[in-house]
Amino acid sequence: MNSSNIYKFLERIGNLLRAETRQAKTDPPLQPVQLEILHYLNLCNQHSDIPAAVSEYLGLTKGTVSQSLSVLEKKGYIDKKPDPADKRVIHLFLTEKGRLVVDTTFPPDLLKQGLALMPQAQRDQLLANLETLLKAMQSVRGFKPFGVCGTCYHLSRGEDGNVCQLTRMPLSAQELEQVCREHDLGADESGLVA
Ligand code: SF4
Repeated sequence: MNSSNIYKFLERIGNLLRAETRQAKTDPPLQPVQLEILHYLNLCNQHSDIPAAVSEYLGLTKGTVSQSLSVLEKKGYIDKKPDPADKRVIHLFLTEKGRLVVDTTFPPDLLKQGLALMPQAQRDQLLANLETLLKAMQSVRGFKPFGVCGTCYHLSRGEDGNVCQLTRMPLSAQELEQVCREHDLGADESGLVA
């Protein structure tokens, strides 16, 4: 299969998923890009909930992100808080209203229903292939992997719990599953990306 055919399928699947998320019942209504920002803020950890990370993860300009964040804040879907150690850094949080939108919109029902029609072995293979493709494309352009702690070079597992050696902060079970802007595969290129 050549790249044109693969692109054709990825584009079609992307269009179907975008159309499905556009059906999200939000009041007031939200643009697809605003929904994608809410989804990202639900995935990311405390080092990655800043506007610059939103731009990097979604491949959007700082201007677009800034405008969308203002709309989301005004409509009550997110809150902003300055970092206690550096007031110039602004952290972004989902409000209860924002979290409800994410919970009822992602992953889209269409995807869940389509996957349910596939055998488990094919779903596992699809996931592995998509991870490999994403990782390869990120390495071509030098994009950040936005992986999770379990595959990060900086994770230290000890008897007293898990610690990030980069930030020297302990990591809860929930934080281990969140995507991180600082994720680093180190010399181990076998890790999965988010
Ligand atoms: S261990 Fe890696 S992925 Fe986890 S918080 Fe630290 S830098 Fe981020």
